[in-house]
Amino acid sequence: MKIESAEFIRSAMSERDFPRDGLPEVAFVGRSNVGKSSLLNVLAGQHKLARVSRTPGRTQAVNLFLINRRLYFVDLPGYGYARAAKSARDEWAALLEAYLRSPAANRRAVLLIDAVVGPTPLDLEARRYLDRHGVAITVVATKIDKLSRGARKPALAAIRRELDLREETSLIGFSAKSGEGTAELWKEIGRPLPQAAGN
Ligand code: GDP
Repeated sequence: MKIESAEFIRSAMSERDFPRDGLPEVAFVGRSNVGKSSLLNVLAGQHKLARVSRTPGRTQAVNLFLINRRLYFVDLPGYGYARAAKSARDEWAALLEAYLRSPAANRRAVLLIDAVVGPTPLDLEARRYLDRHGVAITVVATKIDKLSRGARKPALAAIRRELDLREETSLIGFSAKSGEGTAELWKEIGRPLPQAAGN
């Protein structure tokens, strides 16, 4: 997809700030430091969207970007920062819950998993959360460049198994360094949603 425009709309702090104009939404979910900002910037091409974080776990807002005036990127706060207080985790869960409960006709989520680390317990929780809310997911294994060619396939297979993904659920190896997986991810995001959500 050719990116003609990518605009920051706002940081949503509560439900009333979420989009209401019915445009499709792609929400990006993952633990802090998974490579979400880097991925968003690669997806948006030369348009710099998200700041690559130096202080993981700091952002507790839902950042909304409008791409080509017809699709929202919803940058959900990163979770699982080891030093985050329980109150911060509760806040994260409440914000995610509020977002997922807000009505949207066309919403999908991209769940980011660190290819080297694999799914953490909080990743599994996020995956269940999305499933429970009927949101179709695409899973991206980030930082795939850190794995040797030979290690990639088994790592992807392990992620698929540990997350218990259905066969139809796409799992894409991605590198913000090399750009690998970008075209595949764009293709996936542009695909119509499956009729019955479930992953
Ligand atoms: P976020 O907290 O999820 O937004 O993660 P960032 O995008 O800020 O990235 C966290 C760290 O991982 C940074 O040091 C990035 O340079 C590094 N990183 C992100 N993506 C990649 C990647 O594809 N390959 C490699 N090798 N490092 C990456």
